[in-house]
Amino acid sequence: MKTTTVKGLIIKETKVGEGNKIFTVLTEEMGKIQVSAAGVRSFKSKISGACSLFCYSKFIISKGKSMYNVSSADCIYNFFTLRNDFEKLSYATYFCDLTGSVMVEQQDNSVLKLLLNTLYYLEKHDNYSVIKPVFELRLMTMCGFAPLISSCNNCGEKDEITYFSADDGVVYCSKCSPRTNMNHDTYNAIFYILYCDDNKIFSFNASGEVLSQLNILSENYVAAQTGNRLKSLDYLKNNFQII
Ligand SMILES: [Zn+2]
Repeated sequence: MKTTTVKGLIIKETKVGEGNKIFTVLTEEMGKIQVSAAGVRSFKSKISGACSLFCYSKFIISKGKSMYNVSSADCIYNFFTLRNDFEKLSYATYFCDLTGSVMVEQQDNSVLKLLLNTLYYLEKHDNYSVIKPVFELRLMTMCGFAPLISSCNNCGEKDEITYFSADDGVVYCSKCSPRTNMNHDTYNAIFYILYCDDNKIFSFNASGEVLSQLNILSENYVAAQTGNRLKSLDYLKNNFQII
């Protein structure tokens, strides 16, 4: 049987039958794929460690009837410390969940890089009010939901941008919209998040007011563009104060 080697991060796992699991894996080579691992819940399984949620592993897979089957798996990196902190675990779960829900099959590996970078960062930092909106806005942009923020959607004005429309993914200046939901620094923060280099996404300072506006806007944007609300986000918001 023809086999393929892929590297990927397990973003979702589901127990099936006696000892099997089905995973959603975000791979470098094939985008998001579904794989089935037989007997992986048995204590005798040699691949159970590499086949766990948040494990970044090298898999040998073959095409089955409805999804791929795993024959071998080696763990490259396990974000195990995230499991020791309930708050970090909740964020990691939400980020993986959101990725799985907005990403279509077969995309390039930029989303995988974003998710890996975010989980690495999450292991070492707890500035959640920065991490969450940065991840949400970058992910949406990479998955084809980039907001158009460079000028007012009505008149083209580039200054005095004061309203972000989550429904339409556009911005308006103070003359064109009677409503205001962001100040100048928040607008600059969104601009930075969308256009900075991959390795600098978390490198900015913002006041409490900016972070508060940023979190509201990014969450509203995700909700408006995806049209669904994830249980993992409700869980996060019910159990922890984001800002
Ligand atoms: Zn305008």
